[in-house]
Amino acid sequence: MITAQPVAILSDNYAWLLRCTASGAAAIVDPAEPAPVAAAIDAAGGRLDLILLTHHHGDHIAGTDEIRARYGAKVVGAAADAHRLPKLDQAVAEGDSVALGAARAQVLETPGHTRGHISFYFPDGGVLLCGDTLFSLGCGRLLEGTAAEMFASLSKFAALPPDTLVCCGHEYTESNARFARHADPANEALTAYAAQVSAWRAAGRPSLPSRLADELAANPFLRAPDVATLADLRARKDKF
Ligand code: ZN
Ligand code: FE
Repeated sequence: MITAQPVAILSDNYAWLLRCTASGAAAIVDPAEPAPVAAAIDAAGGRLDLILLTHHHGDHIAGTDEIRARYGAKVVGAAADAHRLPKLDQAVAEGDSVALGAARAQVLETPGHTRGHISFYFPDGGVLLCGDTLFSLGCGRLLEGTAAEMFASLSKFAALPPDTLVCCGHEYTESNARFARHADPANEALTAYAAQVSAWRAAGRPSLPSRLADELAANPFLRAPDVATLADLRARKDKF
């Protein structure tokens, strides 16, 4: 099965170090800052098979070539965005699978934040790498895509098993909680979860990965019943 460990990089990004427990194969997701990423890989034994890229933004791809050169890892990213990603060894699209040791990730096309954004889902271990599409208690800004695209992307996540571990690209949870509680003040699950997040952050621990079940109960963007509601929430959050 796949295990996932957050690696804090830049000001509030996470790269994710993935390990196949059966084979020892390892991958890093969105390694935008080489030094802390290499330190985490080396502390875990120094093996790196794959670099998985969710989308083309610099705070996700910047360290890719340096990490590739250091470990000889293969780079996987969206075929649709190959022109603006580092050189890809495997260019993928919806429905493709990516092997990591004994496990396989399913590739989900999840546009909204960017046109070519993809996510990786490992059923064995229940690990979702969702980049800047879904955040804990929030979702990505619609920089290139539409609310309808984001709604469809979030709907793919909502259909995954509730015990899925949600591995996002940023530690935005506490600030997302402020808007979420403003938007959905009567949601008791949200109130309780926001208190839990504050306690985790005060103790210096990441709020991620979160559990999909908690997002389904507390995240107003994932709970939006239709495109219009999601569009309204996103517009209000942009001005909050
Ligand atoms: Zn981004
Ligand atoms: Fe980002």
